[in-house]
Amino acid sequence: MREFREGERALLFDAKGRQYLVTLAEGGEFHTHAGVVPHALLIGAAEGITVRSTAGARYTAVRPTLAQFVLKMPRGAQVIYPKDLGPLLVLADVFPGARVLEAGVGSGALSMTLVRAGADVVGYETRADFAVRARRNVLTFLGDDAAARFRVEERDVYAGIDETELDRVVLDLPEPWRVVKHAEAALRPGGILVAYLPTVGQVAQLRDALDDSRFGMAETMEVLQRTWHVEGQSVRPDHRMVGHTGFLTHARLLGA
Ligand code: SAH
Repeated sequence: MREFREGERALLFDAKGRQYLVTLAEGGEFHTHAGVVPHALLIGAAEGITVRSTAGARYTAVRPTLAQFVLKMPRGAQVIYPKDLGPLLVLADVFPGARVLEAGVGSGALSMTLVRAGADVVGYETRADFAVRARRNVLTFLGDDAAARFRVEERDVYAGIDETELDRVVLDLPEPWRVVKHAEAALRPGGILVAYLPTVGQVAQLRDALDDSRFGMAETMEVLQRTWHVEGQSVRPDHRMVGHTGFLTHARLLGA
């Protein structure tokens, strides 16, 4: 068993299911409308502990999962949501040691998903401030050891890819068709390209570019996730669901 330590993140949730991400610090305090929780109550305790605030409200603490961390971490660019991160990992067929080029890096949600699955990731990101934040988010969640498998370069992927013999190229930016030729040269045969795109016009343009390339086996899909309300006899789909995030397109680099 590993107790909560100073410097770690804890996810606190209350009776209504509201969640708060807290960085534990010696002498730290978590303030809510329902009083104060001294971090000292959590440091040294096991995950799953329930504590009371000074006003008597109950909070339970666990370590955040990747999905929970992604939704609570500091974000500049829009992140890819957990419902799409999981499928993306399988469509890209990421494996430990896979050499992956990711562009753009944004807030690092996809980066931490790839690195955590064991990939060696090089990220290209045009915005210096996003590159810094992404790196901080990835190392915060995965620990400093992850630094050896995640590097971000401040550069424009439309201008080219320096890496060669890549296993995967994963894209979340507005004009991925401008990366197809570069990916063709940078991937090894059999390598996989995956692109996340919000609109169908973009998908059509990407698929045209893939048709004019050595990529084949192209497919486009969207992931619909419907959660359920389960309470006593009332078991039914929730009234609300996220209608749209983005389309996932994947293709494989084949021979000439
Ligand atoms: N997938 C990321 C979010 C990416 S948002 C996540 O899950 O957190 C898209 C990012 O692409 C932005 O940060 C933007 O600055 C970057 N970008 C746009 N065009 C680019 C280009 N040509 N080369 C590199 N990065 C680019």
